[in-house]
Amino acid sequence: MSQEKAPIPLGSNFIRAIVEKDIEQGVYASRKWAGSPGEAKHQAAGELDSAKIRTRFPPEPNGYLHIGHAKSIFLNFGLARDYNGVCHLRFDDTNPEKESQEYVDSITDSVKWLGFSWQNAKESNLYFASNYFDFMYRAAESLIENGYAYVDSQSAEEMRINRGTLTEAGKNSPWRDRTVAENLALFREMRDGKHADGSLILRAKIDMASPNINLRDPAIYRVRRAHHHNTGDKWCIYPMYTFAHPIEDALEQITHSICTLEFEDQRPFYDWLLERLAEAGLLAHPLPKQYEFARLNLTYVVLSKRKLIQLVEEKHVSDWDDPRLPTLAGARRRGYVAEGFKLFTDRIGVSKADSWIDYSTFEDCMREVLNINAERRIAVLDPIKLVIDNYPVDANGQSQVEDCFAPNHPLKPELGKRVVPLTRELWIEREDFMEVPSKGYFRLTPEGMVRLRYGYVVKCTSCEKDADGNVTVVHCEYLPDTKSGTPGSDSVKVKGNIHWVSVTHAYECEVRLYDRLFKEAHPGEGDRDFLNDMNPNSVTVITAQLEPSLKDAKAEDSFQFERHGYFVADKKDSVAGKPVFNRTVTLRDAWQK
Ligand code: ATP
Ligand code: MG
Repeated sequence: MSQEKAPIPLGSNFIRAIVEKDIEQGVYASRKWAGSPGEAKHQAAGELDSAKIRTRFPPEPNGYLHIGHAKSIFLNFGLARDYNGVCHLRFDDTNPEKESQEYVDSITDSVKWLGFSWQNAKESNLYFASNYFDFMYRAAESLIENGYAYVDSQSAEEMRINRGTLTEAGKNSPWRDRTVAENLALFREMRDGKHADGSLILRAKIDMASPNINLRDPAIYRVRRAHHHNTGDKWCIYPMYTFAHPIEDALEQITHSICTLEFEDQRPFYDWLLERLAEAGLLAHPLPKQYEFARLNLTYVVLSKRKLIQLVEEKHVSDWDDPRLPTLAGARRRGYVAEGFKLFTDRIGVSKADSWIDYSTFEDCMREVLNINAERRIAVLDPIKLVIDNYPVDANGQSQVEDCFAPNHPLKPELGKRVVPLTRELWIEREDFMEVPSKGYFRLTPEGMVRLRYGYVVKCTSCEKDADGNVTVVHCEYLPDTKSGTPGSDSVKVKGNIHWVSVTHAYECEVRLYDRLFKEAHPGEGDRDFLNDMNPNSVTVITAQLEPSLKDAKAEDSFQFERHGYFVADKKDSVAGKPVFNRTVTLRDAWQK
């Protein structure tokens, strides 16, 4: 047999390759885990970690998660699932401003909705970085004690100037050589509220001439009098993100810390910091390692929390879960499904090269999944009346009601059929009748014939119009021997096939037709204001006539409305017996036939 290279399986990527190699070489095999996060001596008392790897998804609770976060969730939780590991959900809440419980709740909901859990039989790995403030403080003191950190009294402006540029080395702060005792005293005063916000800052002492600006004595602790949603007013100093994050990873015994590319230049500081704390005995080897991947950029949406917050706060959308938003809460209400997210993240892969993914790729994934899972139903979105004048009526003029049988899923006969009642008066789509047909139009025309899907062939006889010339009612006669599913029903050949709903049985219902929120692929590109790129027609609310069974739909049930697309019973506004529907996505080839 030839030695061909095995094809790269779907979903494989460079990070998986690293994880596989680390496991094979036993890089993390000696790691201990005491059952909870903690420093070296805490973990040393634990057992060998039964989790082969530990990853984490670390959102800052300062907004709702969006489609970009889903990529990170599938990556981190997916690695843990596939390599006998665990993935922690960690709220990176070290910045006291802008964080809130509402965001915490929505984030946990979204992660669960995508199908992941931070809990297993042994442990629940849901953590808040703010619970590590005590350790972070001690870590900072340890750096000071070992000559690796100093308190700087320069103003922010002086620090900025002395930091240097990409081509010029920085200048040492005049305060860089304070003694350990002086630094410790000042740092404790910072903690004890003796200094104004912004007046002093603790910096790592590394190298002001480093070609990597992030190593030019980065700030690690600042004075900030702010109420924290978890720790209240206990602290008036807060750690900087670049200091806090590696420590959070290390306390949680994370093996592979995966982040987006913009943190690549931070990696040397990540490693420097953890090494210093390991030398001081606070952390143990093997230390976590950071790996970077390209963030998701998606056309026709904005994936920046700042912009999303602006859309919500300025009421350009109804709320965080507006079905037009790319938030996961919005996506869920829109009717996008977790399985579609999985397909999408598998398909776009994980790489180190930034690129743009077209929104249609995302929509295609949703269509593919919904096509397989969603039952079919009939809906008339823009109704006009069709009267079958020769259809039987009783002595009181009441129409006969006849059962027609519509398959619930063309690819899944095991899902059976349902009854749709046929009567003398039906709703059909306005565009399924044309008085003066265009070329290639195969639906109803004066004198034309068409099949009523799952029912009879009908022949048009006339139409009625209002004073403005708009068609209001179409008249036809049916051919009694042509009922679908009966012998000889196809003896009369017709080219068109239209859907319908009985007027007396229809469920009249609000349907929201959503479209893209932005009309430009790259909202706000160049110096445009992204708000000017909003699509003014991103939602149309209509009153539709639906087949009667849809009245029983439960919130979040998804359907394909035949010939229209995929629709979901809205999660928020549906009540039992009275669902309202959101259009998730149109059918790819609507009206092609
Ligand atoms: P912002 O910078 O807009 O405030 P963020 O992206 O930093 O938001 P976090 O809450 O810090 O938001 O993100 C949590 C995790 O999700 C991080 O690990 C981050 O790398 C990842 N993430 C965020 N946006 C994307 C994206 N577009 N594609 C892939 N991963 C992302
Ligand atoms: Mg962030």
